[in-house]
Amino acid sequence: MKCPTCRVDDVIEIHQKLPDGTEIDFFSCHKCDERWWDHQGREIALADVLELARRARA
Ligand SMILES: [Zn+2]
Repeated sequence: MKCPTCRVDDVIEIHQKLPDGTEIDFFSCHKCDERWWDHQGREIALADVLELARRARA
């Protein structure tokens, strides 16, 4: 996994599972501090993550 912003290959990946079973991956770049999430192979924004989490609680 490469950072989409600075292209370095120095990215942390953290797998997360929401209470309803939705699985997302959190990525964070060591170099430029870019953060992003991935849901089912699709990049999603923080707002989308919060929306998924809110739906998971409902
Ligand atoms: Zn970066």
